[in-house]
Amino acid sequence: MKQPRVEIRSIDSYALAEIEEAVSHWFSRQKDPKFKRSNRVLIKPNLLGAYLPERAVTTHPVVLEAIIRYFLDRKKEVWLGDSPGGTVSVQKVWENCGLQDLADRYPIRLVNLSTMAYRELEYDGIPVKVSEALFQCGLVINVAKYKTHSLMSYTGALKNLYGLIPGMVKSEYHRQYPDTESFAKLLLALFGICRQKISYNIIDGIIGMDGAGPSAGRPKHFGVLMGSDSISALDTIASRMMGFKIKDVPYLAEALHMEGVLPSRIIVPQSFLSYRFADANIRSVKMSQETLKFIPRPLGYAFRKVYYYYPVVSKRCVRCGVCVRSCPVESIAWQDNGLPKINKDHCIKCLCCHELCPSQAIDIHKSLIARVVMR
Ligand code: SF4
Ligand code: SF4
Repeated sequence: MKQPRVEIRSIDSYALAEIEEAVSHWFSRQKDPKFKRSNRVLIKPNLLGAYLPERAVTTHPVVLEAIIRYFLDRKKEVWLGDSPGGTVSVQKVWENCGLQDLADRYPIRLVNLSTMAYRELEYDGIPVKVSEALFQCGLVINVAKYKTHSLMSYTGALKNLYGLIPGMVKSEYHRQYPDTESFAKLLLALFGICRQKISYNIIDGIIGMDGAGPSAGRPKHFGVLMGSDSISALDTIASRMMGFKIKDVPYLAEALHMEGVLPSRIIVPQSFLSYRFADANIRSVKMSQETLKFIPRPLGYAFRKVYYYYPVVSKRCVRCGVCVRSCPVESIAWQDNGLPKINKDHCIKCLCCHELCPSQAIDIHKSLIARVVMR
């Protein structure tokens, strides 16, 4: 069994010098020969959409800048990119998320994984399309954002790999894997395919998100930057600090098994051994599956009549059309009044619309029982 190490630094603000010091220290300790030998590095942030850094939806550009500087100093060719969600303009993502500014100031290449070629690979009988960029770079640094997630409860290092899947293929996968359980299997297949290629993982938790993440929650000052060469170890410690148990994150136990990691053997700095963010609001995303397991099968149908949740378009809608274009099952259509409407009967509850709406205009309506279960 492995004994992976998870690095955690208390960092109060996005001050470049402090972040650069932490990142340099962690990278310089890595024994993976790719850190020395590889000429090209892919830095893979979370770029869910065209959000400004202060919204805390996407990886902060100063964290990316610190990583860029480390590798440019070592004469590496740096690629920086992701496959943003939905149909949003990639140029707008580069600009709003601060990547265009980085590309203007440093000799790096911005790569749009939505339009790059991909390979279709298989893991455990599940075929997954993965961006060619993963295979064209000897060194890959996965740089996630620390957030809650309405469908998967928590998003960190492993979930961030989903951006390695090109563009609208992601929407198609949401249609094919509509519920939490099947989507977790897809994520694990992606993890199985990619994990040997990822050399290091960083989670930007200086300002993360709690509440209705990954985009409509509340920016939350956690004040931590975390790193590890083990994705499952990093997500285990990070999600625990937010208040989740391993079973709350649907893919985590299997991911630990795949990496041969025992949670009790993960090495963590002494001051964070049993640390919890006691005031993190994770109630609204806590998975209800455990509760549903205890409902006897004959009562299941009746229970679902009273236990339900679905997305609804609110008055905050600015009619941009992102949700209409992004829904994997085309269950959102324009109405005569110029507003989009969700067809509840066709909706598979992937919550992509909730995730991608740039105005946080899609609420999740919950029945009374769902509110109690998800409390
Ligand atoms: S609900 Fe959101 S994504 Fe959909 S049209 Fe309105 S503002 Fe755009
Ligand atoms: S309406 Fe929203 S939650 Fe429902 S299937 Fe479409 S994108 Fe997913």
